[in-house]
Amino acid sequence: MGNRGLLVIISGPAGTGKSSVINELFRRRDKLFFSVSATTRAPRKGEVPGESYHFITREKFDEMLAKDEFLEHATYVSNSYGSPRAPVEEKLAEGYDVIMDIEVQGAKQVKEKMPEAITVFLAPPSFEELERRLRGRSTETEETIVKRLQQAQRELPELRRYDYTVVNDQVDRAAGELLTIIEKAKTERN
Ligand code: 5GP
Repeated sequence: MGNRGLLVIISGPAGTGKSSVINELFRRRDKLFFSVSATTRAPRKGEVPGESYHFITREKFDEMLAKDEFLEHATYVSNSYGSPRAPVEEKLAEGYDVIMDIEVQGAKQVKEKMPEAITVFLAPPSFEELERRLRGRSTETEETIVKRLQQAQRELPELRRYDYTVVNDQVDRAAGELLTIIEKAKTERN
């Protein structure tokens, strides 16, 4: 069955463009699996249930938590997010490289449990650019945008704890750099 896949943890403030970079990564490379998180937050326009997230109730989230079904979980701007453990472990065993898009507390939990994982912080070119992108998305209320910007300000200094930092100045370039990092990490490991 070949080698176990590489676990790639990607974090970065909301509005950095993680989804665009990850989508580009999937266009360029096979044998990748995206870990679809469960969340209690409401879907945003354009989000596909089961693809972007598993949108679940608070009750369901608490039930999964009690059954220890999450590899990690965290609260972010008053909603809960968690990564179902089973798909991640299955796909790694099948040789898929698994991509997780999770915030910093979750990344820390996974790195502690699975130190062979690599962590990548995707950073916006600047805080001003982040604000422009978040506002440009116009899918959220002013209150949510402000909370997310405050959260971003707390998250940016965390990039020092990550194995790699990639600046998302341009989606194509950032995805290319991420691919190079993944290939290099796999070569070094083998
Ligand atoms: P958003 O609501 O913008 O989709 O995501 C908010 C934040 O939650 C982002 O930083 C995203 O990376 C993070 N996130 C998404 N899913 C998970 C998860 O399963 N666990 C953790 N810890 N963070 C997550």
